[in-house]
Amino acid sequence: MAEKVCKSCHRIVEGKVCPVCKESSFSRDWSGYVVIIDPKNSKIAERLGVDKPGRYALRVR
Ligand SMILES: [Zn+2]
Repeated sequence: MAEKVCKSCHRIVEGKVCPVCKESSFSRDWSGYVVIIDPKNSKIAERLGVDKPGRYALRVR
């Protein structure tokens, strides 16, 4: 089963609402997987515009 990803912040979401931006617009068509542990020292987090630790998709269509 494909996990769903928030279209706004690319976070991989298990519940009904994204815990980061409170959006409920999701996509199951995504690729790339990254775990961000320390957003302040992560180039990937900077590129994705992420400021909370968690699991994120690199590309969301
Ligand atoms: Zn989000």
